[in-house]
Amino acid sequence: MTVRILAHADVLTFDNDGTVHRDGAVVFSEESGTILDVGDTAAIVARHSEAVLQDCRDRIVMPGMVNTHTHLFQTLLKGLGTDKVLSEWFTSMTAPAATELTWEDCYIAALHGCVEALTTGTTTLLDFMYVHPRPELTDAVVAAMRDSGIRGVAARGYVTAGADVGMPDALIQPVDRALADAHRLIGEHNRPGALVQVGIAPCMSWAVDEATLRETRRLADETGALITMHLAESDFDVAESLRRFGCRDTAFLEHTGLLGPDLVAVHCVQCDADDVRRLGAAGTSVSHNPCSNLYLGSGVAPVPEMLAAGLDVGLATDGPASSNNLSMLDALKFAALVPKGVYRDPRIITADQVLAMATRGGARAMGLGAEVGSLEVGKAADVLVIDQTTLSIAPVHDPAASLVYSRRGDEVRDVWVGGRQVVAEGCPTMVDPDTVRARATRAARGLASRAGVSR
Ligand SMILES: [Zn+2]
Repeated sequence: MTVRILAHADVLTFDNDGTVHRDGAVVFSEESGTILDVGDTAAIVARHSEAVLQDCRDRIVMPGMVNTHTHLFQTLLKGLGTDKVLSEWFTSMTAPAATELTWEDCYIAALHGCVEALTTGTTTLLDFMYVHPRPELTDAVVAAMRDSGIRGVAARGYVTAGADVGMPDALIQPVDRALADAHRLIGEHNRPGALVQVGIAPCMSWAVDEATLRETRRLADETGALITMHLAESDFDVAESLRRFGCRDTAFLEHTGLLGPDLVAVHCVQCDADDVRRLGAAGTSVSHNPCSNLYLGSGVAPVPEMLAAGLDVGLATDGPASSNNLSMLDALKFAALVPKGVYRDPRIITADQVLAMATRGGARAMGLGAEVGSLEVGKAADVLVIDQTTLSIAPVHDPAASLVYSRRGDEVRDVWVGGRQVVAEGCPTMVDPDTVRARATRAARGLASRAGVSR
């Protein structure tokens, strides 16, 4: 059995006390996939003399990041639909492309996306697969997650309404059919300890109805599956909710029983103080997507208010059609900088706080707080080794600040998920990245051509 020590590193644990070990070490078992010890190098090496030692001088060792929201299929849509408002972005590009998606498209998009995510430091990913013009497209995402070695929840999404505001008929499904498929997937994949699980994802308030949300709550209560849903992303979301349901969308989710600790509410840009209070009272978590919210001009989420209210806030990239990559390193910098400018207060959120959102915050949001999100004995060995010698990041005084503000983006060297090494010296170990990129590029060109979208 291989026991590995990552030694002589700046170890950022993200435990309850935010412990940092300069010249620290982490020990884990590749066989059991769990962390055995964390502390100062000298003490750790003395306690584990039999282990394989990896010298991590000039490296950060930290927990793998948790990306709480993306749409992996959009990997094939990078760079399309730029400089458009959300409704036009959706109806003129994303929806026509989504209507043409095949199983192979979804699989290779998801595999490319998972590998990109792993090589930029994400070890747990919540995918939101909301388009099903053909059967078994969430199955394709699950297969790709498994083949990449990432930990994840593939949320089976659905759209059950919205034709009156431009949702294509090909993307609308009867709620019974969507939930039966979700139930099948949950039965097939949700086992204790499984690396890839399945969640359920009603798309957004104007793309569902009251019965859909009530049935979603029933299925979640019956199966224990995680729920995720877009909420209060744009002004349109709130205005449509008022028009359709006579209340704001957060109140609508509360009214239908959907709010709860098993819900990851995505975006929440337009949430007012009353909405934040409702989310907090229900124990609902928030997925914060700063790059996407800026890209689509949606606005800036009131994250400082959410943190002050005690909400679990996780960080995310959103789909590559609206933030244009899956780099949590980019999300970190935007999450830290934008509030400073908007609130005109550089103290409003810190580098340590955004890193905590990207690790333990996201894990707690997804209900995985006991398993991942920090380097602590007994937790899964989801571990990153990050280079601190690039010209961008060095010289380093404060590892957290350097990582958030100075990184170039290619500093992730080694990644383990559950004790299995999935990135070594910056290269994925489970797949050949050149083959994946070539297949994804071919699929992306074919999809854009069939959908008739070119920009
Ligand atoms: Zn989204």
